[in-house]
Amino acid sequence: MLKIYNTLSRKKEVFKPLKQGRVGLYTCGPTVYLFAHIGNLRTYIFEDILKRVLKYNKFKVKHVMNITDVGHLTSDADTGEDKMLKALKREGKELNKKSMFEIADFYTKTFKKDLKNLNISEPDIWCKVTDYIKEQIDMIKKLVKNGYAYETNSAVYFDTLKLKEYTELAKLDLKGMQEGISVDKKTDKKNPTDFALWLKLIGEHKNHIMNWDSPWGKGFPGWHIECSAMSIKHLGKEFDIHCGGIDHIPVHHSNERAQNIGALNKPAVKIWMHGEFLILKQGRMGKSEGNIIILDDLIKKDFNPLAYRYLTLNAHYRSKLTFSLEDLKSAQNALDNLYEKIRIIKSENTKPTAKIETDYKEEFLKNINDDLNMPKALALTWDLVKDKNISSKEKYKLLLDFDKIFGLGLDKVKEIQVPKKIKDLAKEREQLRSENKWQEADEIRKRIEKLGYKIEDTNKGTKVKKL
Ligand code: AMP
Ligand code: ZN
Repeated sequence: MLKIYNTLSRKKEVFKPLKQGRVGLYTCGPTVYLFAHIGNLRTYIFEDILKRVLKYNKFKVKHVMNITDVGHLTSDADTGEDKMLKALKREGKELNKKSMFEIADFYTKTFKKDLKNLNISEPDIWCKVTDYIKEQIDMIKKLVKNGYAYETNSAVYFDTLKLKEYTELAKLDLKGMQEGISVDKKTDKKNPTDFALWLKLIGEHKNHIMNWDSPWGKGFPGWHIECSAMSIKHLGKEFDIHCGGIDHIPVHHSNERAQNIGALNKPAVKIWMHGEFLILKQGRMGKSEGNIIILDDLIKKDFNPLAYRYLTLNAHYRSKLTFSLEDLKSAQNALDNLYEKIRIIKSENTKPTAKIETDYKEEFLKNINDDLNMPKALALTWDLVKDKNISSKEKYKLLLDFDKIFGLGLDKVKEIQVPKKIKDLAKEREQLRSENKWQEADEIRKRIEKLGYKIEDTNKGTKVKKL
C-alpha cells in the first residue's frame, strides 16, 4: 500500500490511480535560460524517486515534463522581462528568434546532461512551450468564455476573485493578499492576485521577439497557462500526480489549478506533491540571488555526481536540506564505501538464508511506500550490508533490487572507481612512456601513489588500482 502526501489535503493518502495500474505524472520542468542549480536538481531527484517507487509498485507511469522557452517573466507578479530575453542580453547574443531557440537548445542539452549524470530517467514526453501555443490559446479562450478571464490593454488576466477554489492549494488568505501585494502602478489588472494568461506586445514587452497571433492580438503566453495546457493535452482532463518544488504552491500551482478548474469546471490534478528546498548555510540559493551552485561545479571538484544524489537521499523530500561541501564529502565517502562493500560482497560466496531476504524486502517496501522515506530505506540498506546472517548472494540480489529506487549505479560496480584526475595522470604517464621519457613517467607514478592509487603495467595494458 503506497501512501503519499498530498499538498492539497495536507495529509498522507493511500495512492489509488484514476485508471487501474496506470499513473499520469506531470512535473514542472526547467526554464531554459540558465543552468539548473543543485537545488532545482534536488527536486528533479525527488521526482525521479517518486517515479521509481511507482514503478516498483508495478504501476505503468506516463511522465510528462515541460521545457519553458517563452513566457516566464523575472517576477511572479507579471512584471519584468521574459527570462529568455534576459539570457540573450546577458550572453551578448543577437536579439532574434534564431538565437532564442539556440540558447533554449543549449540549456536544454545541459539540463539533459545533468539528468544523465544524476541517473534521473527522462520523461516519456518532453513538451516545449513554443510547440503548444495553439493549446494555450484554446484554453485561454475557454477561460474567457467561462467568465474567469478578462482582457485589458496589456494582457488577458485570470480573475482570481471569481474562483472560490483559488485559495485551496496554498491555503491563501486572499483578502490579506490583496492588501499585502504591492502592485506595479503600471499594471491594469483588477486584483493584485490576478495573473496573466496572455501578454500583449505593449510596454516592456513591446519588442518581444517571440510572439504569436491570438484573438487578443499579437503576444505570448503566461508561464502558468503553459503547464496547464500541456499537462491536460498529454495526460487528459483528469490525471494523478503533479509535482514541483515547494515555491510553486502559492503562485504557479495555485494558478495552474485555478486555470484547470476555470476551463474544465473541475480540478484536473488529483494529487499535488512538492519537494522542500535545498538551502545554503547563509540562506536561500537561487538564480535571482546569484549564488547558485551547478552540478558541473561539483564534478570539477572531482565529486561523483551520484554522491550528490546520495546526499539528497539522506533527507526526506519534505524536509529542508542544507548543502555544504563537507556533507557532500561525507556522502561521497559513504557512497565509495558502499561500492567497496559491494565489490567485497560480489567476491564472497556464503551460504543462502532465504527467510531474511524476505524480511528485508518487506521492510524496504514499507519504507519507500511511506511517502518515499528514503533516509529510512537507506539506513535499512546499510543494516543489510552489515548483516552477517545473510548470504552474499542474497545480499547482492537485494542491493540491486533496492537500487531500482536509489539509482546509485550499484549494478555497475565492477572495478575501483578511479577519479578523473588520477585517470588523466595515468594517461599522461603512458604518453611519456611512449616517448621514452622514463624519469618523468616515474615522477607521475609517484604522484599517483601519493594520491592513494597504484599503477600496474600488465600485458593487457596499464591498470590503476586503489592502494
Ligand atoms: P525553475 O527552473 O526555477 O522553474 O525551477 C525548477 C524546479 O526547481 C521547480 O520545481 C522549483 O520549484 C525547484 N526549485 C527551485 N529552487 C529550488 C531549491 N533551492 N531547492 C529545491 N528545489 C528548487
Ligand atoms: Zn509548471
